[in-house]
This record gives sequence, C-alpha cells and structure tokens, in this order.
Amino acid sequence: MKRYLAALIMLSFCWFVGMSFVQDKEQPQPKQALRKIVIDPGHGGSDGGARGKYSSEKDIALAISLKLEQMLHDEIPDVEIVMTRRTDVFDKVIAKANIANQARGDLFVCIHVNDAPPQHHSEVVGHHTETYYKGKGKKRKKLTRKVTDYNYWTTPSSAKGTETYIYGVQKTDAKKEALSENMDLYLDSASAKELKDYDPNDPTKMMISTIKTQQYFQRSANLALTIEEEFQKVGRISRQAQQRQKGIWVLQAVAMPAVLIETGFISNPEEEDYLNSEDGQREICEVIIRSLKRYKYSLEKQMSVGNK
Ligand SMILES: [Zn+2]
Repeated sequence: MKRYLAALIMLSFCWFVGMSFVQDKEQPQPKQALRKIVIDPGHGGSDGGARGKYSSEKDIALAISLKLEQMLHDEIPDVEIVMTRRTDVFDKVIAKANIANQARGDLFVCIHVNDAPPQHHSEVVGHHTETYYKGKGKKRKKLTRKVTDYNYWTTPSSAKGTETYIYGVQKTDAKKEALSENMDLYLDSASAKELKDYDPNDPTKMMISTIKTQQYFQRSANLALTIEEEFQKVGRISRQAQQRQKGIWVLQAVAMPAVLIETGFISNPEEEDYLNSEDGQREICEVIIRSLKRYKYSLEKQMSVGNK
C-alpha cells in the first residue's frame, strides 16, 4: 500500500512536471511589440542627395543615423537596431528594402534632409535705347526702342522645419504585395509553416495581408504624427506628417510600418548649420527617441488590452 502511494505520488509529480513543461511550451513569453528597428540613412556613395553650401545630405543622414543607433542602445536597450548602411556606400533602394525584410524588422525609419529651390528675384535698374531695323531693301528702316534693364539674383529658399512621410494610401496594393511576398517573415513560425502551402491568391493569405496593410498604415501614421508633435515641442517648425507618392518607394516595399523623416532643410543656411552641429544632431535624435518610446508604449498597451 505504501509502495503504491509512493508510486502514485511519484506519478503525479511527473505529471505535474510534465504538464508544466507542456504549459511552458504552449504559452510563449508575451510578445514584445517592438523588437527590431531598421534605420536607413538616406542616399550614400555616388548618390549624394541634396547639397547645401558646404555639406551633403548623405553625410548628415549618416551622422544622425549613427548617433541615433548609439543613443537608442542606451535609451531603449531591449530593442535591436539594424542599419542599412554604416559607411558612405551606395545601395539601391531594393537592396535596402531587402535588408529590412530579411532582418524581420518591426519598424523602418529613414533619415533624410530636405531641400527647396532658391528664390529668384528681379528689380528694374534703368533703361537703355536699342536700335533695330524693319523691312527689306529700299524699305529698310532704322528704328529705336526703349528697353528696361533688370538685375537678377537668387536667395536661398526660406523653407525650414521638419516633415515626416509615410507611404501614400493609394499605394496599399504595393504594400500588400510586399507583405504577401514576405508572408513568412512577419508571421510567427507556426502560422507561416501552415500558410506556406497556400497559393499567394488564397483568400486566407490575402485577408491576412490586407489586415496587416491596414495595421501598418495606422501604425506608420501614428508614429509620423508623434514625431512631428515632438519636433514642435523642442521649437522646430513642423511641416506636418504627410503622405507622399513619389520618391519613397522603399516605404511601401518593406513588410513593416515605415516612416521617412526629413530632419531639416539643407538649403536654408541657418538649418544647414543646425543639421551639421553636434547639438542639432543630438536634439534630432532625442526627438526621434522620445517618439519611438511613445510608439512602443502605445503598442504594448494595445497588446496587453488584446491579451485580456
Ligand atoms: Zn533624401
């Protein structure tokens, strides 16, 4: 009887350990909403981007991005950072999108610098008399006319401030395509395995990519608005969060929420100095990090509500 009891206790202990093992396996750790951020310093190498009086967009974008990476390590240590470039190299945007997709990033942040064409001016400085001829042969006449003289000059555009872009809502088809092609990259491995055998036009796959496209658009828009709000708080002029159709192909080619930050105008002498200064670059990074913290917090709040 005693032996039977001991065996029973032993058995129930095994069952308990076994069950807790099974439970451990079946209940994974709560998902972290923002595990990996891909930072893309705009342009590079032969593609210099916009040019100011003494500096190039590609160099400023890289300097800000490297600073951002360093500061993010300290400020949000549980988030991994992936860089699309760390040196002055040129990569096609398709290569940059591939880096982001293969890294399975949760967020794509492009750092750029804005540019506006100079303003053209003119003023009347005087007049002079011009001689000209009319008619042919004997009828040829010598005539004069009064001509106004102008002075032409240009000044740098007065445009200044920040803009944050997300892909245009009209481009959702392209985003959906990127999501369908990278389906196994952003789904958890179990679902990915199950969905792998479905053909890309399968309704289940299409539904998932539609839902994800909407979710990513919403997240990108929220982050863009937050970034512009934080820029305003430190006294920068915010030219608002915007949707753009051209020149931001990479934003819809990545299977994750994505924003492109125009950190200031290189064409504005005052802002060119700011963009090149240690303090200016630091302030820009601080603004982005504060925004990312707010974004991360709101995702985690959504997730904890969703789990209940
Ligand atoms: Zn650019």
